[in-house]
Amino acid sequence: MKLPESSAALAGATWEDCLPYYEALAQLPLDAASLPGWLADWSRFESLLSEAVSLAMIAYTCDTTDPAKEAAHLRFSTEILPKAEEQSVRLARRLVETGLVPEGLETTVARFKTSIEIFREENVPLFAELEEMASKYQRITGGMMAEWEGEQLPLPMLSPFLQARDRTVRERAFRATVIPYMDVQPALSQLFDSMYAHRQRAARQADFRDFQTFSFAAKHRFDYTPGDCERFHDAVDAVVVPAYARVLAARRQRLNLEALRPWDLPVNPYRAEPLRPFQTGDELARGTQKIMGALDPVLAGQFRIMMEEGLLDLDSRKGKAPGGYCDTLHVKGRPFIFMNASGVLDDLVTLLHEAGHAFHAFASHAQPLVWQRHPGAEAAELASMSMELLSGPHLGPPDGMLDQRDAAIARLEHLEDVLGNLVHIASVDAFQSWIYSSGEGGDAVVRDQAWLRIRSRFEQGVDWSGLERERVARWYRQLHIFMYPFYYIEYGIAQIGALQIWRNSRKDHAATVARYREALALGAVRGLPDIYRAAGAELTFDRGKIGELVQLVESEIERVRSELPGS
Ligand SMILES: [Zn+2]
Repeated sequence: MKLPESSAALAGATWEDCLPYYEALAQLPLDAASLPGWLADWSRFESLLSEAVSLAMIAYTCDTTDPAKEAAHLRFSTEILPKAEEQSVRLARRLVETGLVPEGLETTVARFKTSIEIFREENVPLFAELEEMASKYQRITGGMMAEWEGEQLPLPMLSPFLQARDRTVRERAFRATVIPYMDVQPALSQLFDSMYAHRQRAARQADFRDFQTFSFAAKHRFDYTPGDCERFHDAVDAVVVPAYARVLAARRQRLNLEALRPWDLPVNPYRAEPLRPFQTGDELARGTQKIMGALDPVLAGQFRIMMEEGLLDLDSRKGKAPGGYCDTLHVKGRPFIFMNASGVLDDLVTLLHEAGHAFHAFASHAQPLVWQRHPGAEAAELASMSMELLSGPHLGPPDGMLDQRDAAIARLEHLEDVLGNLVHIASVDAFQSWIYSSGEGGDAVVRDQAWLRIRSRFEQGVDWSGLERERVARWYRQLHIFMYPFYYIEYGIAQIGALQIWRNSRKDHAATVARYREALALGAVRGLPDIYRAAGAELTFDRGKIGELVQLVESEIERVRSELPGS
């Protein structure tokens, strides 16, 4: 097959230019002898197209003011990609129908097979309507404004006030940011009713009991079940909730308060002003490079390549799209990190996280075929969350960008967040599980009550009295529940894996990082338990094992806290 020379050759492509390649792949005779060549051609074309799509998106998000860049990005994302995906499904079907499973493609074929098995023609319009509903959720919540000092401000602009030292200011900011969600709650509740009905119907049409069991198949969760997730919830309830309650009690004492109210959570009790470790994106990159140097020469080398080849765009500036991402250029075998850094500690944490995804892209490029490189979110976030924990001890002198005291404050914030996030993840996952499996998830009133019940099981140590409506509004803010159902437990699973990698690194740093890189190099050719094992961790939902990790986090919190002067 004659393929384009490079992704640049596809930069101006239309769908009519792409279709013949898929047609050719659909027609070529397929047997055991021709299969390897056919797979190599198909993978090569997918890589070329995906790189062209990525380059167009990168060009646009880095400069949204150029109409030509916008047009190219839209042509790829709205015209070419959906049709290309249809064609890929068609080719995947061809592969599965041969009955052949080439070595290294066992997990790929299993994923293809499951997707084919659960596909129903009559679900196509249902999922199209669900897409519409998801954009409606985005429209309602995306442009939300809060009233602040007589002005209408976008919600993110209130975040400095949410962290204010002055308690009355942060209470007002908290209330101001919740009000817009309470105002639209009836509309969002109705929208969710329709989403619920559509999802349950699609699941039944695909011969599943409910949308939860359907989602486990659709998300290719071959290595854990809804029952395992329930064990995770119980484990968090038993061992993380009390540990986090102790963290919150220490915060309450430090802030000298009778009771911790929800607006007392974002303020840093150790520092009057937010940490500002750098000014420019260049400084951030150089600082991160130094931290990587302390971690591992191979990772440091990869990060240097990103700096030298212009694969980082970190500064916030006019004309850039909001947010951040790490994308992969599949032909070049290079990652690209996009951010809107403004100089705060969170930017450094975000870059360390994204660097983990970037190292995953570097390592998994060793796999020859494009489908062999991307494992699910549980393994992807293992790469990024481990990087946050591994680099944590290097934020201060001599390698980091912070002084001793600020490094300790940052470390404390991160470790406390690890516990707080596990509690939050368990509550969001338990709620979604209840919605789709209880039979009552379609009843808006019962649904809100269930959230309150589940939330108070997991979120202890915060006084929500008199704030019931505000507490209900919290789940309407959790966009995953609306837009990416069941996508959340992955972060919990990855965090438990990352904590094990961090634990190992305290005994043998070099060997732990080497195993980390080996696990990333497996890409998607092995199942989740194997990838975790390669990294020196275990895919576990066990209360005792999670308890040991939580104990380790708690004792590290106590150690860092005791070293802080004035504590
Ligand atoms: Zn991530």
